[in-house]
Amino acid sequence: LYQDRLRADLAYSISLALTDPLTGLHNQRYLRGHLRSLIASVRASGGSLAAMMLDLDHFKAINDLYGHPAGDAALRAVAGCIRAHVRLFDTVARYGGEEFAVVMPGATLADAVAAAERLRREIATLAYQPVSAERHPLTISIGVAALSGESSGGDEELADGLMRHADLALYEAKRQGRNRVIALEADGEMVSAG
Ligand code: GH3
Ligand code: MG
Ligand code: MG
Repeated sequence: LYQDRLRADLAYSISLALTDPLTGLHNQRYLRGHLRSLIASVRASGGSLAAMMLDLDHFKAINDLYGHPAGDAALRAVAGCIRAHVRLFDTVARYGGEEFAVVMPGATLADAVAAAERLRREIATLAYQPVSAERHPLTISIGVAALSGESSGGDEELADGLMRHADLALYEAKRQGRNRVIALEADGEMVSAG
């Protein structure tokens, strides 16, 4: 009985270490580990892999206007929306603060851009309601990147490169005015969805 208890405690500790308590999504630590193993299998058997980095627009304003608990509720609403609108085998993580990441095995850059654009629209229509009288516009900017066939390096290096590229595209989406999807193509070109 004692052994079972220890095992259960260990499993619980591990799940806590890999889960974001606010949203129930995976955390960045889980995503990084999972991404490395996905990359290893993509390299072994071919196929594609894409990633999105998502960051809520002007999120600080929600906390400032309605308080931190309202901000937390908005984060939970967005997390649920993302989870509900990607495929079951896509991994959704809270990357930190008001940033999320989605890793999409089998998706090309074009697939991921289409999925990101759908997600962007869903979140924009979610229009978070912090107090019953007021709907606060809530939008998200998304950067998309994919592992290209010519990518070389170790699994860790490729994982870092993929997330860095998605992050660069996200930065460009912010720079171009937010509430948009930008993809970084293999040739380094930034392209906008839609
Ligand atoms: P931008 O469009 O440039 O992304 O603007 P922003 O306001 O979203 O970005 P900024 O980085 O200035 O602010 C992020 C805010 O997210 C500030 C921080 O208080 C809030 N935030 C991060 N984590 C949490 C959280 O767990 N709960 C709440 N309520 N707020 C959080
Ligand atoms: Mg941010
Ligand atoms: Mg933000």
